[in-house]
Amino acid sequence: MSSALLDEATRIAREFDYPADRVQRGVEEYIKQSNEGLAQENTTLSQIPTFVTAVPNGTEKGLYLAVDLGGTNFRVCSVQLHGDTTFSLTQSKIMIPRELMASGTSKDLFLFLARQIEAFLRIHHNEHFEAHLRRRRDGNDVEDLFDLGFTFSFPVRQCGINSGTLIRWTKGFNIPDAVGHDVCALLQSAIDELHLPVRVAALVNDTVGTLMARSYTSPGETGTLLGAIFGTGTNGAYVEKLDKVTKLKNMKDAHYDTTTGEMIINAEWGSFDNHMSVLPDTVYDQELDADSNNPGVQMFEKRVSGMFLGEILRRALLAMHNNPELGLFKTSKTSNVSLPSDSLFYRQWGLDTSLLSQVEADTSKDFVDVKAALKDHLKIENPSDAECQAVKILVHAIGKRAARLSAVPIAAILIHTGKLETENMVDVGVDGSLVEFYPKFEEYIREALREVSQVGVAGDKKVRIGISKDGSGVGAALIALVASKDENLRSPNGNAK
Ligand code: ADP
Ligand code: MG
Repeated sequence: MSSALLDEATRIAREFDYPADRVQRGVEEYIKQSNEGLAQENTTLSQIPTFVTAVPNGTEKGLYLAVDLGGTNFRVCSVQLHGDTTFSLTQSKIMIPRELMASGTSKDLFLFLARQIEAFLRIHHNEHFEAHLRRRRDGNDVEDLFDLGFTFSFPVRQCGINSGTLIRWTKGFNIPDAVGHDVCALLQSAIDELHLPVRVAALVNDTVGTLMARSYTSPGETGTLLGAIFGTGTNGAYVEKLDKVTKLKNMKDAHYDTTTGEMIINAEWGSFDNHMSVLPDTVYDQELDADSNNPGVQMFEKRVSGMFLGEILRRALLAMHNNPELGLFKTSKTSNVSLPSDSLFYRQWGLDTSLLSQVEADTSKDFVDVKAALKDHLKIENPSDAECQAVKILVHAIGKRAARLSAVPIAAILIHTGKLETENMVDVGVDGSLVEFYPKFEEYIREALREVSQVGVAGDKKVRIGISKDGSGVGAALIALVASKDENLRSPNGNAK
């Protein structure tokens, strides 16, 4: 094997080392920034109050609706919670027509959404729907509404469990007349216009959905402390003591239930340490950020999540490719590797993070999976063993750094909430393709957790980590349930039973 290639790969890999003392410093800084975020607005960690004040324990029962307006699709589902940590879910998914995303009015969009809810009810819950219409016709008190959780993946300023104003559209949406308005009220009026038996009970963030879904499905009745996402982006939501959320005092229109003394906080940890006081920073991280459409923000996310790891790897490999002494993936007298000029290797964001998982998973002597991944993703054929080994070295370094960085907010939240001291077991729910598919991602997180002095081997043993699927379905349904139980919140919206 060419030792120059391996030497250089090893040298670059070392730049991605994130040793125990750096993890420790990261944790201390995270705790500091999270306290700032609980006290005031416009801090690096937003620490957004979600107004969800209780987590489920698996005994919840009932039929709830959930809808999810993401970037491309509108998902409608009904969730039957059986009360024994299990559930059944029925769902439909509809593409949102382009013209509704950008050129219409908010009324057009929300009426479209309400019509999809109507179609879903007619197909899957027609009996309930018809009974409701009959009662309405007969002039009987119209009750027995479906409570609905609304997952809305755009920036909103939330002021209660079922209200939040749209700050701005993202992801190709542009309907100016909706900005500044309460998206729950917009959906509710469209639903009312169609006389549907549905009450918009909760506005839901996907991390909170993850936390709630895990808390319901996790074994035993112990509530979950933290829900964390490692997918396209990374973020987390955790259970905080109400009296620590001191900035709530300044929110005049805020209304919420205080009986549990807790509230779920959406950390928005993708922007942890945007000012780069403790985050590791290689030249590849710097170039990625400078060429991104939002330089200087989401700095933690840019080192951790699926949208970025492939691009970090691509830039490191490209540096070796452009180094004439190494000629990685360059044809020569001794190498007949081929890399076509239209390969995604040359395109920004061209390397998908799933390649890292495929490469990391390869345990063969002759690099079977590495070769398949290079060919499938980048049209690179006949790489030498040394080239494959170089790719493996870099992938491992970048993936491991991401996992060790992921341990920082997790450890910080374990320490900050004091749960390791007061509980025998602390449950954490995770979701996202990276944590689900990157080999040993959880193991590397745990290695780093054990290196944090206030966690250690004993603390790590208390942490139970489990995948939490379907946050926007089950999680949203559970938040609708919590909200519907909260009588305080009904009257302001005229929904009191
Ligand atoms: P979302 O974030 O939209 O909920 P996912 O959790 O599936 O969706 O995350 C998608 C991200 O994960 C993308 O950035 C993609 O590149 C990355 N990804 C997809 N498959 C894998 C995989 N097998 N291993 C690692 N990352 C993956
Ligand atoms: Mg997701």
